[in-house]
Amino acid sequence: MTPVDGTIDHETLRAKYLVERDKRIRPDGNEQYIEPKGRFAHFLDDPYVEKTEREPVRDEVTVALIGAGFSGLCVGARLREAGIEDLRLIEGGGDVGGAWYWNRYPGAMCDTAAMIYLPLLEETGHKPTMKYVFAPEIFGHAKRIAEHFGLYENALFSTEVAGLDWNEKISRWIIHTNRGDEIRAKFVTMGPGPLHRPKLPGIPGIETFGGHCFHTSRWDYGYTGGGYTGAPMTKLADKRVGIIGTGATAVQCIPPLARDARELYVFQRTPSSIDVRNNHPIEDDFFDVLEPGWQKKWLINFATLQTGGFADEDLVKDGWTDIGQRIRDRVVENAQKSGAIPGPELFQQAYEDSDDEKMEEIRARVDAIVEDEATSQALKPWYRQLCKRPCFHDEYLQSYNEPSAHLVDTDGKGVERIDESGVWVAGVHYDVDCLIFASGFEVGTEYGRRAGFDPVGRGGVQLSDRWAEGMQSLHGVHVHDFPNLFVVGPAQGANLISNITHNLTEAGSTIAAVLRHALDRGADEVEVTDEAEQAWVKMLEGSTRSFLGSPDCTPGYYNNEGGPIGPRQRLNQSGYPEGPVAFFEYIDKWRSSGRFEGLDFIRRD
Ligand code: NDP
Repeated sequence: MTPVDGTIDHETLRAKYLVERDKRIRPDGNEQYIEPKGRFAHFLDDPYVEKTEREPVRDEVTVALIGAGFSGLCVGARLREAGIEDLRLIEGGGDVGGAWYWNRYPGAMCDTAAMIYLPLLEETGHKPTMKYVFAPEIFGHAKRIAEHFGLYENALFSTEVAGLDWNEKISRWIIHTNRGDEIRAKFVTMGPGPLHRPKLPGIPGIETFGGHCFHTSRWDYGYTGGGYTGAPMTKLADKRVGIIGTGATAVQCIPPLARDARELYVFQRTPSSIDVRNNHPIEDDFFDVLEPGWQKKWLINFATLQTGGFADEDLVKDGWTDIGQRIRDRVVENAQKSGAIPGPELFQQAYEDSDDEKMEEIRARVDAIVEDEATSQALKPWYRQLCKRPCFHDEYLQSYNEPSAHLVDTDGKGVERIDESGVWVAGVHYDVDCLIFASGFEVGTEYGRRAGFDPVGRGGVQLSDRWAEGMQSLHGVHVHDFPNLFVVGPAQGANLISNITHNLTEAGSTIAAVLRHALDRGADEVEVTDEAEQAWVKMLEGSTRSFLGSPDCTPGYYNNEGGPIGPRQRLNQSGYPEGPVAFFEYIDKWRSSGRFEGLDFIRRD
């Protein structure tokens, strides 16, 4: 698509993108995926702990934190800092960590630089060992936060919330669990729905496969050998392994699989965009020159540059800040051209130009690394970079130069059929001993299905009903008719997708300030007013900021699998119109003012 003079033919590129998208649009959209049931039901089991029996708990706590991933941990930490002691984490896994508890596949690591991705580094004193750290270090950090802030005390692990009901008479939430517990909580915090519930592709015949199979979030090291700290998977040396999926997870586990399996067949529907990662160790003395408050400075610097703002220097220097700065610089360049009319169209043009340039580089990188011509062609992504989660890796493309690795490209159609002995694509059968599903997690499904419970608020209203036409909240945290309940996540707040944990530490500070205020005033209930919630939602609806969800994109969970994008999808993915940095400034002022505008603090005596 790049003519000999080096310019990019944008029109032809756009047409190619649409052709590639159309190949992938399916009438079944999100329905193409199936829940792990029947012979796959054990995919939801916890292979990492022995489940021990215990007596049901019946008591009361001041704050129950549902989910001990980074959302529960960040809020718990901030509550402790605010002097709120009576807390309880309730978590389905056998330890803290959330996604980093479940995902122990080989090569697992964070895609965002550790200096900003790992929360509460200064508070805990941890110094990341590499620019992008591997999963064991991230899981270790989650445990460190829990230990440092005393969050293990009183916690309930291997315990799933089965019901969350508001009791009007006593102004308490009643939590029921799958272990028979009945816990009263004055306040409850919860994530916006767990993103680690595995989903499987509904490929015809999937249940007939006779070989070994597992989902990446429950990696079976008993079968493969090795371990997630990097030991080679020696038991794969005589195995033919198939992997379905080439998303962010597959990109990380394919290099070790290509290294260790006798044969590896990668079944690809849509290639990921693979930019340079440039990972490297961080020396200990790097931290010596950092001044107190450095992590906050880094977080704001990253968020500013990643979202097109200006800063004196780029502290993180990664693929994310590169994307943001390219767009910003192109806006400035275009605005300076004579006759340029400032406005959304100028921004859109700049965005498209810099994206085309970036994606041409990414495709050229495939050519430069992958030796086999047909494989190299098939690995090139034909869509805008932010249509899917951008990937960054220094070994993924190189894997395809291993003699054991075979890319089976399905030309956007996906795997045709699975039978007892293997996988069919375009009429060709691939025999495999083991099939690995790197098919991702439920993202767009109902809260109740993902979480296993549906909060019931004032007057018996269910959260899924309240949000049937899209999420409704103030700041993404407070929901009218759900007093004393606090949602923790990026949506309807900063919505900084490139660094999720930044949203979580900020939400933690906000919730801690609100709870401190409520406890100090002796309030029994804290609730957002209907007017304040509606005003916030109205403001979000007016925002044109979000790129995610463009129908022009190749299908994926960012755009409702290419299905219609209505107000519901837009609301669920919306963020503060002025962007994440402006939101962080706004919310800091809101919670520091002590007025907590939009919330009612109610005494029931
Ligand atoms: P994804 O949902 O991103 O990817 C699923 C993959 O399965 C896609 O490649 C999809 O193809 C493919 N697939 C689905 N159905 C079929 C089919 N019928 N035939 C062939 N292929 C099929 O899941 P991941 O586990 O990769 O990622 C999940 C989430 O976790 C993402 O948000 C990701 O960004 C995040 N993550 C983050 C990391 C980090 O470091 N921060 C690391 C790893 C994951 P198609 O693209 O065509 O739909």
